[in-house]
Amino acid sequence: MSHKQTISNLISDLSKILSADQILDSDTDRYLYDTDATSLFKQKAALIVIANSTEDVSRIVKLINNYPKLNFLARGAGTGLSGGAIGDENTVIISTAGMNKLIASDFDNRMALIETGLVNSALSELVKSSGLHFSPDPSSQDSCTIGGNIAENAGGIHCYKHGVSSDQILGLELVMPDGEIVYFGEINEQACKAFDLNQKAEKIYQARRSQIDFSRLFTGSEGTLGIATKALVQLQKIPESFLTMQIAFGSAIEAAQLVSAVIREGFKPTALEMIDEGALEAVCKSFDLGIPTESKAVLLLELDGDNDEILLEAKAIRELIEREFKPLLFKESQDPEERKFLWKVRKGTVAAFGKIAPYWYLYDAVVPRSKIPEATERIEEIAAKYDLKLASVLHAADGNLHPNFLYDPDKDPEVIDRIHKASHEIMKLCIELGGVLSGEHGIGVEKRDYMPFLFSDEDMETMLKLRKVFDPKMISNPGKIFPVRICKYC
Ligand SMILES: Cc1cc2nc3c(=O)[nH]c(=O)nc-3n(C[C@H](O)[C@H](O)[C@H](O)COP(=O)(O)OP(=O)(O)OC[C@H]3O[C@@H](n4cnc5c(N)ncnc54)[C@H](O)[C@@H]3O)c2cc1C
Repeated sequence: MSHKQTISNLISDLSKILSADQILDSDTDRYLYDTDATSLFKQKAALIVIANSTEDVSRIVKLINNYPKLNFLARGAGTGLSGGAIGDENTVIISTAGMNKLIASDFDNRMALIETGLVNSALSELVKSSGLHFSPDPSSQDSCTIGGNIAENAGGIHCYKHGVSSDQILGLELVMPDGEIVYFGEINEQACKAFDLNQKAEKIYQARRSQIDFSRLFTGSEGTLGIATKALVQLQKIPESFLTMQIAFGSAIEAAQLVSAVIREGFKPTALEMIDEGALEAVCKSFDLGIPTESKAVLLLELDGDNDEILLEAKAIRELIEREFKPLLFKESQDPEERKFLWKVRKGTVAAFGKIAPYWYLYDAVVPRSKIPEATERIEEIAAKYDLKLASVLHAADGNLHPNFLYDPDKDPEVIDRIHKASHEIMKLCIELGGVLSGEHGIGVEKRDYMPFLFSDEDMETMLKLRKVFDPKMISNPGKIFPVRICKYC
């Protein structure tokens, strides 16, 4: 059967279980789903199918299993930054974005049962009156889905203290790669089913079961083990108070030394962000932030929690800075408007990048905290070698570097090739310094060929075996994470 005939037969099968507006197969539709937020990786899928329920996902996946050459992937909001939610002409993209309901909440036990297409910040908004929120806060939180957060094990600015997505997932309802619906962890199967039948979910809590909990294994598996359709998530108390410090330094090394000192002394900031010289130059040109022009790095340190406790912690941090450091600027505030202004040096970077170049490529790399100064210096050298405009922001407490390359392919057609070469060298550098391949954006297609930099053949074999237990036919988001060894720079 020709490929065209296969797709046509699948569409005909899908039409028997879905309405016409759930099946998108025009060139325009395929174009709209051909990339994620990386924009450097583009592929047109065979078609896009909109799922409205777990049953839909299960039936779609079962149908795809009847076509040996086809595969599928789940797509939330498409804000991923490693090319995870794109597929080729053999791929059916299953959009879960419409499955976005808060099914039930249990504030006494600080939990919520949700459909995984629910947008991250929408959950916090829906439960706000209870004094609780969903704490993982990727900068894309107003768009990205919790399903995408689970698949990528997303982090965020405030995750150093409160944990990343995997720390907040108590249980999952999954559609396995053969279409079977299964439940892992503390999720209450009855509540999920009652919801599907439009009945009221009375109780969502079920005591921890004695079975092996695969939900943590699934978290971070980038959609290669199946599709998460519902999740029981933990909610955290909204902190009573916040205090933000903005500290400017004449050298990146001194800023990195303060990061190490804060961690060494046992302080627990909720955020510890660093903005490098390139990013500072961009943001200070766009906004009047009162940061001394000779600054080479700015740290934003935020404390949250009980007001008396954070005042004591802030005092101790101030004393540490006075004792051991010579910042060019030190500001702190607890006032919401003033804090917003202090944060502008970080949150204004994307708008500022847009004034310099029409595109920016955001890279994700990790080194041990103590290696931040060496890594930042050597990344600058790599950017200079490839004549690239670099601006970096860092989740410094985690050693998570985000070098941004600002570029304009219309003015400089060779630039994308140079970005790939520079990214390749940055990965090698991070591994050499004891780091890992990704802090929070995942491997996807972007870094799949770099996996052997870090993992031995035996490691890869073990991961593959595990994957095949869930997905023996390798049809759930194939071509992601595992090397395909086509990278021309490796
Ligand atoms: C401006 C910007 C800022 C960002 N900041 C951060 C940040 O601070 N921290 C961070 O961690 N990330 C950040 N990201 C990256 C991205 O937002 C996260 O990875 C997010 O979790 C992706 O969610 P999504 O719904 O957009 O997923 P998608 O992009 O749609 O998919 C991402 C991957 O998840 C899989 N997937 C999606 N839904 C499911 C599901 N239900 N079941 C199984 N697999 C699924 C897809 O197949 C794909 O492999 C940022 C992105 C942008 C554009």
